[in-house]
Amino acid sequence: MDQFPEGGELWRMTLENSPVGMTLVAPDGRLLAVNRALCEMLGYSTEELRAKTFQEITHPDDLAADIELLQETLAGKRSSYRIVKRYFHAGGKIVWGDLSVSLLRDPDGRPIHFISQIIDVTAQREYELRIAAANRLIGHQRRMLEAVYDTVDVGLVLIDREGHYEGMNRRHHDFMALAFPDGHGGVAGQLGEVFQPDGTTLLAREEMPTYRATRGEEFDDQRIWVGADPITRRALSVSARTVHDPSGEFAGAALAYKDVTDFMRALEVKDEFVASVSHELRTPLTSILGHLEMLRDRTDLPSDASEQVLIVERNALRLGHLVSDLLHVAQVRYGGVQIARTRVDLANLVRDALEAVRPIAGASDIDLLLEAPDSLPAMVDEQRMRQVVDNLVSNALKYSDPGSTVRVRLAASDRRVVFEVADEGIGIEEAELDRLFTRFFRGRQAQQRMTPGTGLGLNIVKAIVEAHDGEVQVRSEVGVGSTFCVSFPLVAP
Ligand code: ADP
Repeated sequence: MDQFPEGGELWRMTLENSPVGMTLVAPDGRLLAVNRALCEMLGYSTEELRAKTFQEITHPDDLAADIELLQETLAGKRSSYRIVKRYFHAGGKIVWGDLSVSLLRDPDGRPIHFISQIIDVTAQREYELRIAAANRLIGHQRRMLEAVYDTVDVGLVLIDREGHYEGMNRRHHDFMALAFPDGHGGVAGQLGEVFQPDGTTLLAREEMPTYRATRGEEFDDQRIWVGADPITRRALSVSARTVHDPSGEFAGAALAYKDVTDFMRALEVKDEFVASVSHELRTPLTSILGHLEMLRDRTDLPSDASEQVLIVERNALRLGHLVSDLLHVAQVRYGGVQIARTRVDLANLVRDALEAVRPIAGASDIDLLLEAPDSLPAMVDEQRMRQVVDNLVSNALKYSDPGSTVRVRLAASDRRVVFEVADEGIGIEEAELDRLFTRFFRGRQAQQRMTPGTGLGLNIVKAIVEAHDGEVQVRSEVGVGSTFCVSFPLVAP
């Protein structure tokens, strides 16, 4: 004690005020001395704590390990030990302590007491437990995600901002093998056996889904075929979404490839079926119409029979239009509309078309007005152009209310032909304008009013106008009316 001239008092005060919990423990477990830090840690006064044994304040689950180490120390197998264990606080809660114990022996080697230091590591321990629980959760979620990633029936690909493949799931390996039979370099945009929906045109680099995604494009349902072999190739519908880092910078993209082979094959079968059925229906229909025309011309029929013949003829004509619309749509899917241009006076063509529907307009009390030059010669496919005019005018009448006006305008300006049909009818919802020209699309208003239709007319109009290098535009407002405007280059005769 030479270093403490005050006879050890300073040393006692140091232990008493040490921020580390301290206690002297008798070999039988009695607490001979406890310092302030330990009392505070366990919530007892000095007297209360000294009345306890260390066994009483130790959590039963940790007691055996502590006693075993203590016995080993008493037996001289070790001079000290360290253990993290649980204590009971006076209030009942658990306090985690990092306990270091050494044994003080007298000069003869007999044990006097243990010197124990206890650091409160409850906060640290709780933190560790929370981290361990979070790690378990993350591990669980990662395993779940991996399982989903590898079992979903969709090919998944992740690419980084430079277009390098970061990963793909098992399903996508199958698609890659079909698309890139000679291997893939792991960079977006590599060309391979990847085709347009027609199954024959190869995709260019800038059309490849991964290339588009690397440039930050987001899209859905890009249809492609992968594989050159018509038997094993697959049709895929591709979607892409961009991925951003925490600072919002573009970090890459995720792509999903859904196998839609069965759907695409079913579509092909349906189109072939529609084409062949409508083709087969045409022959008997032509014969029916021919005979009806002859019947109509007879003068010896009773008047009620003549009327019935007219009704049958009207409906047979409707059926004929329907069949040719269907046939047309099926043909368009195979190589577009073929047109044969001849010299046609468009002004006459439009006038004739309007004359044909004038009785219908009259019956519906709709004013049908025409603004057209006396003559407008152009090189167009006459039959197809008549179809365009018929479809647009009959739509305008069909979707208008009695008492309204339909205005038809034909003009040539800037070496372009402009043909416009404007009605004051039910109009079209803005959200529907995009889909108006897709096959079988029918607007909500039209369906609600139960107006008969197939949703093919506008699709046909667009195909024919595009075959004449032109375009169709539409302006519409619900309850106010619609204007369809066709324009195409004037090919002078
Ligand atoms: P259909 O008239 O046989 O249904 P279309 O392809 O000609 O088929 O038209 C598609 C849809 O566009 C129609 O069902 C209707 O909802 C809408 N539409 C076309 N023309 C008009 C029009 N003039 N006014 C209002 N809606 C129209």
